[in-house]
Amino acid sequence: MDKIAIITGSSKGIGAATAVRLASDGYDICVNYLSNEVAAKNIVETVKTYGVNAISVKADISSEKEVDMLFQTVDLKLGKPFALVNNAGILFQQSPVVEMTAERINKVLMTNVTGYFLCCKEAIRRMSTKNGGQGGVIVNVSSAASRIGSGGEYVDYAASKGAIDTFTKGLADEVASDNIRVMSIRPGIIATDIHSKGGEPDRAERLAPMVPLKRAGSAEEVAQAILWLASSQASYITGSTLDVTGGR
Ligand code: NAP
Repeated sequence: MDKIAIITGSSKGIGAATAVRLASDGYDICVNYLSNEVAAKNIVETVKTYGVNAISVKADISSEKEVDMLFQTVDLKLGKPFALVNNAGILFQQSPVVEMTAERINKVLMTNVTGYFLCCKEAIRRMSTKNGGQGGVIVNVSSAASRIGSGGEYVDYAASKGAIDTFTKGLADEVASDNIRVMSIRPGIIATDIHSKGGEPDRAERLAPMVPLKRAGSAEEVAQAILWLASSQASYITGSTLDVTGGR
């Protein structure tokens, strides 16, 4: 099996930790990012210390053209992907729904939902055994927000993650006969920069006492779960959603 993985949004946070974790398991890695070239190149260097091939590709996953370019670059430089981790996600300043503009809502949905569809489409074309591929695995990074709803914070973001849980189940049914497994993972409160974008950099610390395990999770703890789902140890799992939330 050619172990090649594309991790969207892997210049930092959960995506970066996943790139490193998959590299430690022998995957060649494509680090995708939106703007932070320096951080992406640093992750590539870290990944290469595991003796695997790695590239970074700047591509906005909400753009069909850029997603096409991302996958064509991987074809040329690494080969056909076996694993796709759909991880790149965004949220905006905490806000009640009544104050959300259509522009904001559509931007969240374009990245967090349409972007996941577009990347899956390109991945399936390459992975499907019906097209001569070797099969594969797709892990969609959703969020516990899909259950909780994020009222008063970012319901647009939570709704986008609800869409991903539904997408995961439907797509898993569609591509099971192509030898592709599709799962989603729902991180809870994980200490990354995403909370700053919501306007509350210390959000993870504030909410930690509400978590049954009494702490925020780390990006590495989510990455471990993604690696397990992608591995042959999870070979009878597809269409499922795994909570990585410390019990919340
Ligand atoms: P993060 O630290 O803000 O990192 C986001 C990453 O996504 C960055 O690498 C960023 O690239 C990239 N990105 C953003 N928009 C993109 C686009 N349009 N195209 C390509 N790449 C894009 O976020 P995180 O906390 O690690 O979150 C990763 C995923 O986990 C997201 O889907 C998020 O919803 C989910 N999640 C996070 C938490 C949490 O508490 N942290 C909880 C539940 C779920 P640049 O650096 O180049 O901008």
